[in-house]
Amino acid sequence: MTHRPLIILDLDETLIHSTVSRSRVPNPDFLIDDLRVKIRPHTLDILKVCFDHFDVGVWTSSAWDYAEAVLKAVFPKKYSEQIKFLWSREHCIREFDEVLKEHLWAKHLGRIEQEVGYLQERVWLIDDSPEKFRGTPGKIIRVKPFFGDEDDIELLELAGYLGRLGMAPQPEQKYGRR
Ligand SMILES: [Mg+2]
Repeated sequence: MTHRPLIILDLDETLIHSTVSRSRVPNPDFLIDDLRVKIRPHTLDILKVCFDHFDVGVWTSSAWDYAEAVLKAVFPKKYSEQIKFLWSREHCIREFDEVLKEHLWAKHLGRIEQEVGYLQERVWLIDDSPEKFRGTPGKIIRVKPFFGDEDDIELLELAGYLGRLGMAPQPEQKYGRR
């Protein structure tokens, strides 16, 4: 077991944007069926700093096949081989959110503790919609949602911030019950 905290990365509107609209994404980086997918600028910067300093999991509320295709296209092999898990909608629970007044696919962090062994306070989130998470993570990093802007620098700025955090001394790891 490693002593590094876990970062959970979201996909849609955090690392990529996908749409069927030709006008919204005129120059896709890749296609998944009829979806035109744009990779957020500086995604490689954020992946590098994440994998250098943290354990990394991916959790999306999208479908499994889509998540797998995105991972394959966006993550260099050296990183995709290292991820602790790729979780999709099948790992979420459909719930009515009393604050947002809408149904959403909720991500319960207790499941990470039970199934992957990271205590919630050792879990950090990078997500454009962290309100989908249930539990008490150590740190929530909400990113501006990405809709294809080729001049977006959100991840570049975040990479600098995370690099500094990653180099800070970490408290001793405690393990959750399995
Ligand atoms: Mg998202």
